[in-house]
Amino acid sequence: MAFIQPFQNPIFVTQPLLPSLGRMEELLGEIWESRWITNAGEKSQELEEKLRNFLKTPYLSLINNGTTALTIALKALDLEGEVITTPFTFSATVHAIQWMGLKPVFVDIDPTSLCIDPKKIDPAISSKTSAILPVHVFGHPCDVETIQQIALKNGLKVIYDAAHAFGTETDQVGIGNFGDITMFSFHATKLFNTAEGGALSCKDEMIKKRIDRIRNFGMGPEGVEEVGINGKMNELQAAMGLAVLEEVEREREKRAAVEKVYLDNLPKIPGIYVFRKPSHSKNSYQYFAIQIIEEEFGKSRDWVFQELKKFNIFARRYFFPLCSHFSCYHGLPSANPENLPVATKIESRVLALPFFGELGLDRTKKICEILYMLQSKHGR
Ligand SMILES: *Cc1c(COP(=O)(O)O)cnc(C)c1O
Repeated sequence: MAFIQPFQNPIFVTQPLLPSLGRMEELLGEIWESRWITNAGEKSQELEEKLRNFLKTPYLSLINNGTTALTIALKALDLEGEVITTPFTFSATVHAIQWMGLKPVFVDIDPTSLCIDPKKIDPAISSKTSAILPVHVFGHPCDVETIQQIALKNGLKVIYDAAHAFGTETDQVGIGNFGDITMFSFHATKLFNTAEGGALSCKDEMIKKRIDRIRNFGMGPEGVEEVGINGKMNELQAAMGLAVLEEVEREREKRAAVEKVYLDNLPKIPGIYVFRKPSHSKNSYQYFAIQIIEEEFGKSRDWVFQELKKFNIFARRYFFPLCSHFSCYHGLPSANPENLPVATKIESRVLALPFFGELGLDRTKKICEILYMLQSKHGR
């Protein structure tokens, strides 16, 4: 095989989807004219409505970021005691639980979906458990039906972290329709972004009202009615959201083409396994992650991660380390790796590859060629 040149410029795992400056100027012009820059202005009302339709969910509230959204969801359900969650997630999921004075309890993941393993939930339920907080990892829907049955049987609430699942559907039902509340993140790294931002969706009008009150300092018609926080999305973020939403379908198509190149090429490399979405679900195209199995590839995931840097490719070991390894959580009894054998195995194998529309097909092919070359030249 010929020598492969490194990429001229660094390639990161993602690149924020940006609308044209012209479109932003137009929307910002309207905001300037109105002099209304936050507090449920026209732009955030319009975005709330458009996202409600896009995500096919009955109620939706915009929040200033995904982490605040999670804490508001936990507050809106009056939770106490313990919340069952997954260690294979971004730190914000577990921080939100702890930040609210609740105790996270880690449960292992399913090796195919990488989401919480419903079979492992039952044994983790105690008299103090009040909720389950699963994550739709990489946009792969959790086993929402089994989780619902477990919640019903045990009187538990369910909050989903759908930060990776914008646009995910399962059997044509929007992913925000399951559990009591679903959180979406609109951080710059997410396919749909408002620079920073998030939302909560739910099916119950009373819960929606409660969320709206908590995000606005606990203020209701009678003034301050409970302990609240400032979780409002401002008009500039909402304008960004309106403009980005116009680009989402096109970006999804571009990412689908990039994904196809990866799927056509990577499974041919010994030791590389791709994660496949179930056929009944609509892809969120948030991440493209692979597993590198050292015994078959011949080198470790960490070795590949470092080698890719030499080609100016900055993949991410996502999620590594597990949240259960963080110093703030590793003392929890449920954080013991023996309790989390699947997550512990996966964290050493997983690698998120560059994945965004502008990556284009040629660069994606070259990344595949580099991985092929690394395996055939250095692997066993
Ligand atoms: C991005 C992300 C969050 C946090 O969202 P922010 O909007 O950045 O606060 C939470 N959970 C997961 C799984 C995420 O990927």
